[in-house]
Amino acid sequence: MSKRYHIWTIGCQMNVADSNHVAAHLDRLGYEPVDRPEDADVIVLNTCVVRQSAENKVVGKLGALKPLKERHPDKVIALMGCFVGIKPNPKLQERYPWVDVFMPPSEPAPLVHYLSRDVQDAEDRAHEREATESRWRLQDALTTQSLRHLALHGDVPVTAYVPIVYGCSFACTYCIIPYRRGKERSRPLEEVVAEVKDLVAQGVREVTLLGQIVDRYGYDWGGRPDLADLLHALHDIEDLWRIRFLTSHPNFLDERILDAVATLPKVMPHIEVPVQAGDDRVLARMRRGYTVDDYRRLVHQIRERLPDAAIHTDIIVGFPGETEEQFMGTYRLLEELRLDKAHLARYSPRPGTVSARFMEDDVPEEEKRRRHRLLEALQERIQREKNQALLGERVLILVEGKRKGKWEGRTPQNKIVFLEHPEDLRGHLVEVEITWAGPYSLQGRLVDVKR
Ligand code: SAH
Repeated sequence: MSKRYHIWTIGCQMNVADSNHVAAHLDRLGYEPVDRPEDADVIVLNTCVVRQSAENKVVGKLGALKPLKERHPDKVIALMGCFVGIKPNPKLQERYPWVDVFMPPSEPAPLVHYLSRDVQDAEDRAHEREATESRWRLQDALTTQSLRHLALHGDVPVTAYVPIVYGCSFACTYCIIPYRRGKERSRPLEEVVAEVKDLVAQGVREVTLLGQIVDRYGYDWGGRPDLADLLHALHDIEDLWRIRFLTSHPNFLDERILDAVATLPKVMPHIEVPVQAGDDRVLARMRRGYTVDDYRRLVHQIRERLPDAAIHTDIIVGFPGETEEQFMGTYRLLEELRLDKAHLARYSPRPGTVSARFMEDDVPEEEKRRRHRLLEALQERIQREKNQALLGERVLILVEGKRKGKWEGRTPQNKIVFLEHPEDLRGHLVEVEITWAGPYSLQGRLVDVKR
């Protein structure tokens, strides 16, 4: 019987893509994906530490695997991602002796080498040739994602994530990511194009390009090709219907990128550009590199160039020293700009970051929750109002699958739409008339199947 693997993933979209890269390597080594860790020979935990709550989940999951490893010492347990980080950390090995392999974010190599080494030991190095070949495969597989482990009970996903910038060289004072994912590295354009073509060949119709600061694509080699060039190159791929990218930093979202979104029909009018706070002193302490007014101007510029675009933002409430008045700056900014979505987080001090080392986490947890709730209620009202303007309108959605008996897809602006229909609409681009609008999703009826 062939060997089997199970991958557990939490955290950002980058982790989802990283897990698919690992899966591609395991596929090539002859492993089959399975649902449950109990049934697997290799268990990969792909982890997140961006907030304490994520880290707690990882620690829980790791603890749950300990008895499994004790019962089955031959199972290989691999720990990957930001819990591990790029720097070797002997303490982790001490604390979790039941983990066999530690893998930095976006780095399948340690596991591949570990598993190939097993093969070599067992067969007394008779497989020298195969090992060389697997090294070759490793390079080759860098442009491949396997979606089979996501499709155990259904079809291959219609949408996929594609990393284009690994790591981050910024220094936002609250953020642990640069410490755990290493310095910013853009992937060569040809490599990204090859990966997207391969995903399209597997049935994917929409890709979301990923980077911590995705609009800095190409900066590490001096600027060109840049994100706009990459969008043009991907636009030519036949059978790829939709392209998105995230997350943009306000300082790098330039005219070339907005022009590419405006002129390339496959690039969706959907911009994720976090502001994080609506007060200049807080922004300075976060070291974000822009003012509230800079952000306001950017939003106006986006709306002028891309009148139908959705703009999403991220907000942190309760950053060290955030006063009531400074928080109200954020509240008023969201009220004024009426963005399409706001990902809200309560500040969580992260080990090693500048804010954790030098600024007191002085906003009480209860107060963070109150500020979070206030923004949530405000944003919910804005989203409801904006979505209700869509009642009776026709929108094009790409149907991704079924949830609770209804087909689910997204509009170009990334709004979720549900619809009931007897036929299989999965993977189709359909026109829908909106019949119901809530703050977080819409419902509609089918007008036409476009393709
Ligand atoms: N690189 C991206 C986002 C990375 S993390 C960017 O520049 O926006 C995703 C979101 O998590 C961030 O936008 C921020 O809102 C939130 N976040 C990051 N560190 C945090 C922390 N220490 N506490 C609370 N939220 C945090």
